[in-house]
Amino acid sequence: MAVMNGELGIRREHALRAAVEHGLVGEREPVVGLLDITGIEESATSLHAAFATPGVMITHTFAVKAASLVPVLALLGECGLGAEVASPGELALARAAGIPADRIVLDSPAKTVAELREALALGIALNADNPEELARIDALRAGAEGSGSPVGLRVNPQIGAGSIGAMSTATATSKFGVALRDPGAEEWVLRAYAERPWLNRLHTHTGSQGVPLELMAAGVKAAYELAERINAAARRQQVTVLDIGGGLPVNFGSDDTTPSFADYADLLRAEVPGLFDGRYGLVTEFGRSLLAKNGTVLARVEYAKSAGGRPIAVTHAGAQVATRTVFVPDAWPLRVLALDAKGQEKSGDPVVQDVAGPCCFAGDLVATGRPLPLLEAGDHVALLDTGAYYFSNHFAYNSLPRPAVHGYAVRADGTVEFAPVRTAQSEAELIAESGGALPPLRRGN
Ligand SMILES: *Cc1c(COP(=O)(O)O)cnc(C)c1O
Repeated sequence: MAVMNGELGIRREHALRAAVEHGLVGEREPVVGLLDITGIEESATSLHAAFATPGVMITHTFAVKAASLVPVLALLGECGLGAEVASPGELALARAAGIPADRIVLDSPAKTVAELREALALGIALNADNPEELARIDALRAGAEGSGSPVGLRVNPQIGAGSIGAMSTATATSKFGVALRDPGAEEWVLRAYAERPWLNRLHTHTGSQGVPLELMAAGVKAAYELAERINAAARRQQVTVLDIGGGLPVNFGSDDTTPSFADYADLLRAEVPGLFDGRYGLVTEFGRSLLAKNGTVLARVEYAKSAGGRPIAVTHAGAQVATRTVFVPDAWPLRVLALDAKGQEKSGDPVVQDVAGPCCFAGDLVATGRPLPLLEAGDHVALLDTGAYYFSNHFAYNSLPRPAVHGYAVRADGTVEFAPVRTAQSEAELIAESGGALPPLRRGN
């Protein structure tokens, strides 16, 4: 069932105009990220509502890599969410946002001993990726005075790929988790649990953008059935929590939310009813689906030119803020709005044109051959559905600065209030980050 979201578009329209009017985007800062605070709250509410089941303890965590911005994590924390982290940096951000330890899950395929030790000391839940990591956890637990950390094992049910290879985490040869269908793997898993009475969670994250819901549900079902076999072998409820990962795909084609959290939860209720009968606590780790539709990149058109008969708008939004779209355009197409100098949607007959970014390589295009009202110097473009994995995941090409990010809320009278989420990276910060405080390399050393 589609969730129509007319309000989202109306709020965005107000925000784009106000951002230009307030000078948030201009000569000095020609590109900014905007986040719809109301939209984020609504996403969190719909997630809670979709999964809520009497008698089932559910912890929804947000995959920090989707929007690694502390004020956003804090807002989600206020909405009752936790954080799924996959590096020391992401853990630090989650803690800086005040996310309590019992709502943080550490997943990452390459945790160092130091990271594991810190997580165990903080009592943060962690999911071991492979046998070698589990052995490290054994050693750390033996040394410590016990640990309150819930520990799980990540499994790969090898159910197959979606339409985007790089996003498909449950193929036969995926780098994540214990590959369940490999010879001897399940026997090893059952033994690993039998030998470790404290191993009490099971984790799977079977896909991301491009993976159909049915395939995701099949992955969760495989993990659930494995938990049932582990518990049967243990003759007790050893696995008490199933972490079903994230991965709900996002519709980049319109403002409608399809599929919705409710679609996915309903499918899981039908396909894996045991998940909701109260014997298991649940953890989820959604990223893109919580934030994508709540974010917009707004950028100035610096020049309008033409080459080989093709009009090209040269804007300030390119690979540095829309990395995946620029490098893998077929997998990650974005809707682009043509806005005038005041940030209002342009009218006029569509003209087939390219929308280019500021980076110095020829492929830095966010849209190719796109029919839009003809863009001119001083106009603006808006890249829609970019709240997750876009402006929050900066690509430092050409030393272009990380742009500022602002949250917005639209009052009943249409006025817009902005709240800072991240300031633009300054030149001093850029120089410092590039070794500016260090001595020059010397010749002849
Ligand atoms: C990336 C990731 C997620 C979030 O994926 P989305 O597609 O953004 O929902 C959740 N869990 C793990 C382990 C991940 O790597």
